[in-house]
Amino acid sequence: MKTVSQIDNNALAEILFPNTNLTIEQMEEKFPKRNLKDGARVTRYAPSPTGFMHIGNLFTAFVSERVAHTTDGIFYVRIEDTDKKREVENGVEGILRDLESFGLAVDEGAKGQNEDKGDYGPYRQSMRKDIYHVFAKYMTEQGYAYPCFCTAEELDEIRSKQEAEKLDMGYYGEFAKCRELTLDEIKSKIDAGVPYVVRLKSPGTSEGKAIFDDMIKGKIEMPENRQDIVLLKTDGIPTYHFAHAVDDYLMGTTHVVRGDEWISSAPVHLQLFKCLSKRPPKYAHVSPLMKEENGGKRKLSKRKDPEAAVSFYFEQGYPALSVREYLLTLANSNFEDWRKPNPDAHQDEFPFNFKKMSPSGALFDLVKFNDVSKNVISRMTADEVYELSVKWAETYDKDLFAKLIQNPEFSKGIFSIDRGGNKPRKDIAKWNEISEYTEYFFTAPQNVEMPENVLAEDVKAILEKYVEVYNPDHTKDEWFGAIKEICEPLGFSPDVKAYKQSPESFKGHVGDVSGIIRLAVTGRKNTPDLYAIMQLLGKDEVISRLNK
Ligand code: GLU
Repeated sequence: MKTVSQIDNNALAEILFPNTNLTIEQMEEKFPKRNLKDGARVTRYAPSPTGFMHIGNLFTAFVSERVAHTTDGIFYVRIEDTDKKREVENGVEGILRDLESFGLAVDEGAKGQNEDKGDYGPYRQSMRKDIYHVFAKYMTEQGYAYPCFCTAEELDEIRSKQEAEKLDMGYYGEFAKCRELTLDEIKSKIDAGVPYVVRLKSPGTSEGKAIFDDMIKGKIEMPENRQDIVLLKTDGIPTYHFAHAVDDYLMGTTHVVRGDEWISSAPVHLQLFKCLSKRPPKYAHVSPLMKEENGGKRKLSKRKDPEAAVSFYFEQGYPALSVREYLLTLANSNFEDWRKPNPDAHQDEFPFNFKKMSPSGALFDLVKFNDVSKNVISRMTADEVYELSVKWAETYDKDLFAKLIQNPEFSKGIFSIDRGGNKPRKDIAKWNEISEYTEYFFTAPQNVEMPENVLAEDVKAILEKYVEVYNPDHTKDEWFGAIKEICEPLGFSPDVKAYKQSPESFKGHVGDVSGIIRLAVTGRKNTPDLYAIMQLLGKDEVISRLNK
């Protein structure tokens, strides 16, 4: 038999949601439990389409993706667009494009402007109003929700009183005056068209505790929630809190990976799951990425740090693989130890672990990131470097683009030099360095300054002599042999050791001679393997540069 108050609750639910006929059970039939193997984790990235992606958002999304895909689980994207004020045009597309550009594999979720993929949608909160109302109706029937007609002025009054009396702020307990409205009062207000929100009737007490085991931060204990927070706004759209509980329940999220600014709301969320009689997901609250400043640490800031925006990485031309590699070093303290013995393993093979995440926030260091990126690029094939840098240049450096695609084989030849083998060169961190890196391959050096320790007449003599012995058919050893050969007649030592024993007997040594040749051919003191460079440039070009 139903008690009087239950009858009232059911009647209230009918008044508030007359058109909501589905039940939670019917919802559960429509969105059944996912059929995944034991231990598979379901995670999501749940951005609001505000148009700006912070590297911290990408970090959280990536952690979420790794957690799912290292356990054969599901990673999906849900768009949290219940706050239309914050929404930016094309914000959704922008986020999805960024995720794709960084190579985060999304199994389900919002796709294009209005498109979805997966059986647990719609994956945009603005399209789920009816679903939220099913759960809100259930909460009302259970006595956990009621309408609140308080105006902004009334809420201000409550606030002033609490401030004056130094009480806890908010809408709770004795301050929650709409809790006491009778069904008749409610009915007549609604009939009169008075706007209202639907609030949680919080079962929390001032002694109660909210306790949970955060996957990253460990055991967390906080005062239980006592606030009658808003579940549905006046337009019937849910707040983040309520939508989170409903969506993550129905979509089968096992682990909610989100920014740690949400920790303070966790007691509300745990209570909502309790009121819905559903088991809450596990929570993993990710600390913000930090930056070192004046010996201290602060959050990486959208305002102060260009590297905070993900657009920075595209513009500079960092490969997605480098960004992910660095984010992994930040995410798991043992990643670098794993990488050392596995230099060629794909990063997806790394066994990601929540326990290895820093509870206090990892330090983002651009210098370190550049080193990581150099390493990553040094392990790419010449073809990969070519494809990726061409793709970047097409948008960001038209001149470079034209040069690179003019003769793909030649361009790939440049990237092949000193690539492969155990000790590949590590001198490119990002594609916007390619223009400088490849310059002398495309344009003969101009006005080269020769080193001070070699006389101008000797420079001339070295180059004239070298043109005579230079033979493009030489092997690398023969090539070096030819350089040594011209040393002695010109007064240079072919042997560095001999030179060091009696420097006064020579004008210099073979290193100085090859340095002059290098400068003449490339205009630079340091380059990758000069023999390979000369082979690639070809006989005519080399001779023309030597003669200049
Ligand atoms: N929409 C929330 C945000 O933008 C997501 C929080 C969550 O992942 O639950 O921060």
